[in-house]
Amino acid sequence: MRALGGAASDGPPEQEIVDEMGELLSAMDAVVWSADPTTMRVVSLTGGLRWLGHGAEAWRSERFWETVLDPNELPATMALWRATATDGRARNSVHRVRTLSGEQRWVDTRVRVARGPDERVRRVVGLMVDITEQRRAAELIAAERAAELVLEQLPAIVYAVDRDLRFTWGGGAGLARLGLKPQQLRGVSIAKYLQTDDPEHPELRHHRRALAGESLTYDSSFHGATFEVHLRPLHDQHGGVLGVLGVAIDVTDLRRVELARAESEDRFRRLADASFEGILLHEGGRILLANQAFASMFGYTSAADIVGRSVLEFTHPESRAVVLEHVRLRSESSYRAKAVRCDGSTFMAEIQSKNGRYRDHLVRVTAVRDISEQLRAETEREGLLVEQMALAQKLQRRVAEWEGVLASVADGVTLFDANGLVTFMNRAARQMLGATDSNLQRPISEWGDTFQLRPNGHRLAAEEMPSQRVLRGETLPAVDVGFVSQTGVVKKARVSAAPIRLDGNVVGGVMISHDITAESRRAEEVAEFERLKDQFIRVAAHELKTPVAVMKGYAQFLLRCGDAGADRAGALSAIVRGSDRIDRVVQELVDISQQSLGTMALAREPMDLSQLVFDVTEVGRGRDPHHVHLKGALGVQIRGDAYRLRYVITNLLDNAIRYSPAGGDVDVDVSVADGRVTVTIVDHGVGIPTARQARIFERFYRAHTDTPFDYGGIGVGLSISREIIRRHGGDMDFVSVEGVGSTFRFWLPVGAPPDAAAEEQDAR
Ligand code: ADP
Repeated sequence: MRALGGAASDGPPEQEIVDEMGELLSAMDAVVWSADPTTMRVVSLTGGLRWLGHGAEAWRSERFWETVLDPNELPATMALWRATATDGRARNSVHRVRTLSGEQRWVDTRVRVARGPDERVRRVVGLMVDITEQRRAAELIAAERAAELVLEQLPAIVYAVDRDLRFTWGGGAGLARLGLKPQQLRGVSIAKYLQTDDPEHPELRHHRRALAGESLTYDSSFHGATFEVHLRPLHDQHGGVLGVLGVAIDVTDLRRVELARAESEDRFRRLADASFEGILLHEGGRILLANQAFASMFGYTSAADIVGRSVLEFTHPESRAVVLEHVRLRSESSYRAKAVRCDGSTFMAEIQSKNGRYRDHLVRVTAVRDISEQLRAETEREGLLVEQMALAQKLQRRVAEWEGVLASVADGVTLFDANGLVTFMNRAARQMLGATDSNLQRPISEWGDTFQLRPNGHRLAAEEMPSQRVLRGETLPAVDVGFVSQTGVVKKARVSAAPIRLDGNVVGGVMISHDITAESRRAEEVAEFERLKDQFIRVAAHELKTPVAVMKGYAQFLLRCGDAGADRAGALSAIVRGSDRIDRVVQELVDISQQSLGTMALAREPMDLSQLVFDVTEVGRGRDPHHVHLKGALGVQIRGDAYRLRYVITNLLDNAIRYSPAGGDVDVDVSVADGRVTVTIVDHGVGIPTARQARIFERFYRAHTDTPFDYGGIGVGLSISREIIRRHGGDMDFVSVEGVGSTFRFWLPVGAPPDAAAEEQDAR
């Protein structure tokens, strides 16, 4: 027991009481001090010095309170104590003091005054009690409470497990959300909570790893939610692991958002990669994503090479201002800019951006399209257009020229399309048909109704119409068509028509029509004249025949009587020869008219052609100065008209002799080959001028008219002869050289001519 009491004491208290007080005070970590009410300098003190550590000397020192009290609290504390010294009222204050070792402790100081017998305040007495531990306890409670409050607010589950993986503690708003109270968890094992027997359950494994000293974070699903779990080992002060502290944060929504974002990013990438356009995502010009098309467009192998670059790296300096302007204004309108590839080459691009958000950034999705091809095509198209216009002008001029030409030609020209609609008709055609604009509107196939087209008086069926035939691909060289024009005039036209083809398809047709109305009328008149002429010849021949026969008969009779003198006999012979000659001419005239009427009748009798030729040449032999030679086959049998064939051979031999005025050889040859017999008569006479040879078989045509070699005749012998030969199933031709001679020949079938051939010949 120690007494620290000071010497200055006006009335010493009873020492025993004082000592006991001192003991008590020490035990309760308290001190009682008394101080001068003016200076507050400690005069005496008792108890509790252990916790403060300052010795009695220090207490009594002048600046004691300044060393002990907290500087911040010193003025207020001193003022309080002085107030008590002045008014005598006891006061309490809680404040801090510093121990000798520098530790800070909380004290509760109660001051009151001690008065002297004169009632004056003699001392200020303070009882200072150490309340540090209580205060700490209170603070701890407050802190724990605060921690609990925080935990309750935390959207997480915080828990601790011991080495046996039993929950020792749990809290957090997440726990309440699971419908659990902290007390419910306490003492429950994780395995039980998870209702698992599997010692390898992932949660158990994770917690065991934490018990082994590892800190780990993982995602875990339970109660339909996703938690991000952080595990930390709990250590004691020696470093041993006591258990595990777990914090499970509900990240369900976060993960859902992350997943959605990843999906939308993925979708964006896939969309972008599928696009032929270059697509990039950039934030203020810094590229965050790009598709493969963009990379390829700019000559990079991978889209990853693009990420992180500035859009300006892909922009030609000329276009940087426009690109920057669009980025700055976040413009969404499309524009063109010059782009640069990684090899420095450039191209024109069309660019369009859309503003959007990406991971909380304001970004732009930009589509880039290489339009150099398009521009080239545009330029080309412009060039083509100019060319086309020039061509069109040329064409127009051509059309005008052609229209001019067609307008001035006398033939009608009509063009129609694949549907048979008239696309052009020149003036001549219009005039011919009396066509007006309104009746031209009809398809050409209906013109039969409009213009009453008829060839030879028969109405044309639609499919026979020249236009229809042409549209079916036919070419019509010349078809005569009769028609009644709009003005009611009956006309005739010769129509030739041909399809117009384009790439092998019929796209229309052209029809040329020539008005033959006048021509055919003339032809009809000629035919009528011919008919009258034939009729006249027939009548005249018939009238001549009988008197000539009578004349010849009497002359022959008188000759046969033999009583005529030589002179009279000569005259009578001349009458007979003249009669023969008239007879022949009359016969020729009858034949030629019959021929033209097609009524010549032929006998078909077996006969010896060689013999006939022999007989005729025998007659010819007498006519010097010519030498008629006959050679060739004998006994050539044919079927024919001996009388007519005699005429043919006589005529040819007669011509050969007549047109060889200087005489010379006439060679007659009969030869058989390939089933036909050919009779050839060769002379060495005047020949036939080449220019006149073509018409030699025409009736009444005479090749030597108006030449010195006109030896008479009416020019029908060859015409009749060839007709007779043809009617026998043969034919006739000749070769002749002027001044050298002529070779005439005809051939006939040997033996019986086939009936069919004969009939055919008859039909001609
Ligand atoms: P024509 O009675 O005039 O002789 P043809 O019909 O027999 O009548 O002959 C027609 C024409 O052919 C003759 O006028 C003659 O100009 C020519 N002609 C016929 N045969 C010969 C021939 N052998 N040599 C030269 N000219 C011939």
